Amino acid sequence: MTLVDPGDPAELAASVRSAFADRYGEPPTSIGRAPGRVNLIGEHTDYNGGLVLPVALPHATYAAARPREDEVVRVASLQEDQPWEGSLDRIGPGSVEGWAGYAVGVLWALREAGHDLTGVDLLVDSRVPLGAGLSSSAALECAVGVALLDLLGAGTDDLVAAGIRAETEVVGAPTGGMDQTVAVRGVEGAALLIDLESGETTPVPLDLAGHTLLVTDTRVAHELTDGGYGSRRADCEEAARQLGVATLRAATLEAVEALADDRVRRRARHVVTEIQRVRDTVAALAADDWDAVGPIFDASHRSMRTDFEISCPELDCAVAVAVQAGAVAARMTGGGFGGSSVAVVPDERVEAVMRAVDAAFVLEGFRSPLHLRAVPSAGAGVVPG
Ligand code: ADP
Ligand code: MG
Repeated sequence: MTLVDPGDPAELAASVRSAFADRYGEPPTSIGRAPGRVNLIGEHTDYNGGLVLPVALPHATYAAARPREDEVVRVASLQEDQPWEGSLDRIGPGSVEGWAGYAVGVLWALREAGHDLTGVDLLVDSRVPLGAGLSSSAALECAVGVALLDLLGAGTDDLVAAGIRAETEVVGAPTGGMDQTVAVRGVEGAALLIDLESGETTPVPLDLAGHTLLVTDTRVAHELTDGGYGSRRADCEEAARQLGVATLRAATLEAVEALADDRVRRRARHVVTEIQRVRDTVAALAADDWDAVGPIFDASHRSMRTDFEISCPELDCAVAVAVQAGAVAARMTGGGFGGSSVAVVPDERVEAVMRAVDAAFVLEGFRSPLHLRAVPSAGAGVVPG
């Protein structure tokens, strides 16, 4: 059984500091930290002007930075073999291959927003599993962004937008903005209700009352830049166009059910019903009624499996087995096509749920999963010291 430890922030910052000094010969002058997240509910609603309800994880990415006198940018990661080096004026949409696009994309976007950044050396380390639907990408963007803004003594007002531009324009992953928002604005002890239409964020305090938010990474890697995510997004845009609304946020279920094309109808139905399920979840949480969350998560998972078609056998297994073993609620989370599930588990059942899921994965011949305790944590910031 593998439980991913978020580590101690001060210790992880000290370790990225010393790795930076080993690599570049001088210590960093700034260290930024930004968390991964697990979305409780509201999947593929963000780019439809909808509602999402993520929780920032205690698992985070740490980025150490030191400004340079010249225009050279160097970036390395303890999670990736290939470092990247280039010149400042070369960075932009289409110019950076691979993982480094997330990091230097933020540098580019902050400069586009008017921040006077020069060359820089960067080193990152992370406790967020990569490609697991837990938003290691936004954690990387925002950790780097925090470190860069700190070099300038600037605040983080432009950070969410810069992270989004890095991911959508430089990397080319057509994601919708939830991840960067919660990575920056996440609140300890709360989920963050994000209204993607108004841009409003509202902390929703979580009284876990003897429950644990248990995340299971199926270790089926998802890939947001291949076609699956983009084609779902295109179907949603097509539905909105046919319905004559700006986004599916404004569509009624009745209108959606009248759409002629079966696939487009099912995609739109998922989005419209999922937005309502976010509202229902917030209402249940306001009453600290975790038992009421069970049927909502169940309906969400079924909608993603059959209408949106973004689940997979490993996710279906993790969710079903968690519920059998005592979870009060469970669903797949994140963009889909692999990634993670999230379950609400009475504290005394957590071990049993992890063991049951592990055993089921062995039986099915799946890779052994990773588990994380999603203790609701704060958003990005500078790590002092
Ligand atoms: P998720 O955000 O759910 O983890 P994504 O596909 O959006 O999945 O982002 C994962 C990608 O982000 C990785 O494949 C890698 O390119 C990049 N990435 C994230 N964290 C790091 C890191 N610490 N070091 C290097 N690359 C990273
Ligand atoms: Mg991501």
